[in-house]
Amino acid sequence: MFLGTGSDSIIRAICSIFIDPGDESIMGEVSFQRYEDNTKIMGGNVVKIPMKNHKLDVEKMVDAITERTKILWFCTPNNPTGPVIKKDELFSIIDKIPKDVIFVMDEAYYEYVDDPDYPQTIPLLGKYPNMIILRTFSKAYGLAGLRVGYGIANENIAKYINAVVGPFDVNLIAQNAALAALKDKEFLRKVVELNKKSREYFYKEFKSIGLEYIESQANFVMVDLKADDKMVFNELLKEA
Ligand SMILES: *Cc1c(COP(=O)(O)O)cnc(C)c1O
Repeated sequence: MFLGTGSDSIIRAICSIFIDPGDESIMGEVSFQRYEDNTKIMGGNVVKIPMKNHKLDVEKMVDAITERTKILWFCTPNNPTGPVIKKDELFSIIDKIPKDVIFVMDEAYYEYVDDPDYPQTIPLLGKYPNMIILRTFSKAYGLAGLRVGYGIANENIAKYINAVVGPFDVNLIAQNAALAALKDKEFLRKVVELNKKSREYFYKEFKSIGLEYIESQANFVMVDLKADDKMVFNELLKEA
């Protein structure tokens, strides 16, 4: 286990450990931008695999592994489209990932998920020493400004990441806030419940005005506005 100033700093650490110039990491075409930024900072290249019905095409991602591949980025729920990688999808590919390729399960929106087919990844750590799980206090716990994220992985990987992240990165106030947040189960329950209701509300309203949307397991819903997004953005700001 390791802490970082947001899971973003752990993503950076992972790239600085595993990516050398010319190496590759593989991500979904519409997924979290920081995987690409941090791979490139280390001189690596990103291979983007087209989405399959707005979901990560995990099979094609694994098929795309080459000798230069160092990392697979599985963002689940996927930011910004919203769906998760389901158990059967994960289990159909997980044994095909070579042991010298790291696969990152970025579970930044873990707490919001209510899909019973969402795989619990911590129990898999023993069998897959090349897996890294990322979580954060920035989303459901509402502490984005304090910058606390964490990762869980095999001891060996944790040792490298701790060496890169450094022992002084997460300040004491942030650590104490994170500990207090973990104890406040009622707050988390309320957040998750309100989020679920809000997703349902958006679905209902989008349907009633005829906008296509993607069902989400996170705290956002991607919708085709069929309009100029800047204009909608500015109009929404006026409502804030
Ligand atoms: C928000 C987010 C992160 C990073 O969050 P931190 O604030 O750095 O902990 C990482 N991955 C995904 C998919 C995110 O949406």
